[in-house]
Amino acid sequence: ARQTGNQTIRLYEHDEYVQRYIDEIMIETELVKAIKQDELYMVYQPKVSMDGSIHFEALIRWNSPVLGFVSPETFIRVAEQSLLIEDVTQFVMNRVCQDVSTHPEQFEGRRVAVNVSPNLFHEHHMNELVTIVASYDLQPEQFEFEVTEHTLMHEPVAAIKTVESLKQQGFRLVIDDFGVSYSSLNYLKLFEIDGIKIDRSFVAQLDQENGLKEYEIVKLIVSLAKKLDLEVTAEGVETEEQYRILRQLGCDEIQGYFFSRPMALEDLGEALEILYSHQTVLSKIEQPSH
Ligand code: C2E
Ligand code: MG
Ligand code: MG
Ligand code: MG
Repeated sequence: ARQTGNQTIRLYEHDEYVQRYIDEIMIETELVKAIKQDELYMVYQPKVSMDGSIHFEALIRWNSPVLGFVSPETFIRVAEQSLLIEDVTQFVMNRVCQDVSTHPEQFEGRRVAVNVSPNLFHEHHMNELVTIVASYDLQPEQFEFEVTEHTLMHEPVAAIKTVESLKQQGFRLVIDDFGVSYSSLNYLKLFEIDGIKIDRSFVAQLDQENGLKEYEIVKLIVSLAKKLDLEVTAEGVETEEQYRILRQLGCDEIQGYFFSRPMALEDLGEALEILYSHQTVLSKIEQPSH
């Protein structure tokens, strides 16, 4: 037997596959309601650049009265298997635009990055997002899209067109989770992207004794990014030591619990104040010499 919120479904313990299938159907069913009933909301995680500017990444959250808190990794994956991801992404773009336009103090002069699923990275889908931005009288320059390597390389010919169109309109585009899925770096020259985000799995090992390989990999990624004139962000930075290493390697921007967790809209103002004082302190930390 297994508890899922207030519903209990009895199954043979070994039938994990069937259980997973049922879980997914329940998530899908509840997600359809969630979109309509305002159970979804956005949190914003600061991306702090070494030059002092702060931008954000928008991350979706779902607190379901039936299923409890469901992680985005779980429900985005389910949504991606159906057309639901379209509705979810439209919700995201609408809500982000609404938040941005109603909170100028927090968002003025700061970009917001929106994650885009692989199956939505086509011109007609992206045009729907572009239309939403325009309908709030916001500028493309205020936004950035995060896509994975897989998104670009799945159908590269179509993706090149989509990238070109978004770039022409003024949107920024960065590669999320860089370094985990493709050993070919071909797409770095195929696509006109603005930056890359080094995957958390490399960053997490940076300050560990057995993290020498990760250190070398990150060093190489940063120097490659510089040569290709790409902005390089590190995601999942949790410790001061990781921050110092990344700073010393020349990383442009840091994102992670070390600076800030993803924040609810109401808490952003305070979070920014704390961040600015934090950063002032950090800028006084001597650079490690090695
Ligand atoms: P992602 O885009 O790579 O986002 C980074 C994830 O790492 C986020 O998890 C964030 O909360 C978490 N994170 C940030 N800093 C740290 C840190 O220092 N340590 C650790 N351990 N984790 C950190 P989250 O919010 O659970 O999102 C997971 C994934 O779900 C995202 O990965 C993204 O692929 C997807 N996702 C989230 N929101 C959206 C959305 O609005 N649309 C789409 N299509 N996907 C989304
Ligand atoms: Mg992301
Ligand atoms: Mg990421
Ligand atoms: Mg990641």
